[in-house]
Amino acid sequence: MSLFAKVEMAPRDPILGLSEQFNADPNPKKVNLGVGVYYDDNGKLPLLACVAQAEKQMVEAPKARGYLPIDGIAAYDKAVQGLVFGADSEVVKGGRVATVQAVGGTGGLKIGADFLKRLNPAAKVLISDPSWENHRALFTNAGFPVDAYPYYDAERRGVAFDAMLAALGQADAGTIVVLHACCHNPTGYDITPAQWQQVIDVVKSRGLVPFLDMAYQGFGQGIAEDGAVVQQFLAAGIDFFVSTSFSKSFSLYGERVGALSVVCSSAEEAGRVLSQLKIVIRTNYSNPPTHGAQVVATVLTTPELRRMWEEELAGMRARIKLMRTALVDKLTAAGFKGDLSYITRQQGMFSYSGLNKDQMVRLRNEFGVYGVDSGRICVAALNSHNIDAVAAAMAAVA
Ligand code: PMP
Repeated sequence: MSLFAKVEMAPRDPILGLSEQFNADPNPKKVNLGVGVYYDDNGKLPLLACVAQAEKQMVEAPKARGYLPIDGIAAYDKAVQGLVFGADSEVVKGGRVATVQAVGGTGGLKIGADFLKRLNPAAKVLISDPSWENHRALFTNAGFPVDAYPYYDAERRGVAFDAMLAALGQADAGTIVVLHACCHNPTGYDITPAQWQQVIDVVKSRGLVPFLDMAYQGFGQGIAEDGAVVQQFLAAGIDFFVSTSFSKSFSLYGERVGALSVVCSSAEEAGRVLSQLKIVIRTNYSNPPTHGAQVVATVLTTPELRRMWEEELAGMRARIKLMRTALVDKLTAAGFKGDLSYITRQQGMFSYSGLNKDQMVRLRNEFGVYGVDSGRICVAALNSHNIDAVAAAMAAVA
C-alpha cells in the first residue's frame, strides 16, 4: 500500500475556493467581493507610490541578502513599535516591548500562539463569533481548545456587546482572548472606546490574556485613531500581545510583512520573552525574509516616504467610505427596503450585508456577484464601474 493511501482530501479554503469559482465563471460582468483585498477604482491592486519609491532606492543601492537576525530587521521592529505603541511611549522607551518581524499578520499570530502554548499549555482560547476564518484553525493547530465569545448581533445589526462582556466575565483566568483591534473581519462592526474600557476592566479583573489582532490599522478612522485601543491597554498596565499586518495598509500582500509585539512588565522580562519568541521562529523557519520588511522600514523611517504612505492610506480609507455611502444611495434608489445606515456604521474593508446564504448564492448564480455565504462582502472591491450592477443585484435578491 502506498504511503499516502489513507490521506484524506482536506476541505478547500472557503474564500480561496470562491475565487477559483469566480475565475472559472465566463460572465463578463462578474464581480469578486469575496476576497479580503483592497482594489483601486479601476479594480486593480494598487502598488503604493511610497513602496515603489522605496524599492527604487533599494535597487539603486543594491545590497547582498545575508540571513537576517532571527527577530528580523532591527529598524523594522523599532518602526513597528513606533507605529503601534508610539515611539515616545513609556513602554517603548523603557524597553518593555518584545517585537519580532513575522511572516505577515498570520505569522505574528502563529508565533504568539506557539509561545503561549509553551507558557501555559492548559489555557483556552476565545475568538469572536464570527471571526476571521483562520483564527480558529490557527489556534487549534497550535494545540489550544478554541471557543467563541458572542460578537455579532444580527437583529440589531451591531455588536452583541452585553453578551460579549458576559462571556469574557465567565472565562477562566489565563484564557487567551483574541480581539480585533479595529475594522472587525468579517462583520465590519467595532466597539466604542468606552466599550473597550469595559472589556479591558474584565480582562484585567479576571486575569485573561489579551491578544490584539491589528490587520487593518489605518483603514477605519486613521492610523492613530485605529491604534487608540492599544493606548487604552497600555494605560491599564496589563501585559498583552499585538499582531501587526502590513498586507493591506501597504498593499504588500505577497511580501508577507507583519510582526508580533508582546508588552511585558519590565525590560528584563521583555528580554526573556524575546529569547523565547526567537526559539519559536528558529525552529519554524529560522529567520524571516528581507524584502518586504526592508520596504516598510524604509517608508516608515524616511519622513517624505512616510508622509506619502499616510496620504495613500488615507486615500484608500476615503475611497472605501465613498463606496459605503454610494452603496447606500444606490440600494435606496434601487428600492431596497429598510434601514441601511449599518453599511456606513461599519468600518474597514468588509460589510456584513445582512443577506442570507440563499441570497448570496443567488447573487453569485444569477448576477455573477461573488460574496461569502455568511453575507460578507468586500466593500474595498467595489468601484465606480461595478457598484451599479452590485446594488441592482443586491436589491433584486433582497
Ligand atoms: N487577521 C485578520 C483579522 C485578517 O483579516 C487577516 C488577513 N485577512 C490576517 C490576520 C492575516 O494577515 P496577513 O495576510 O498579513 O497574514
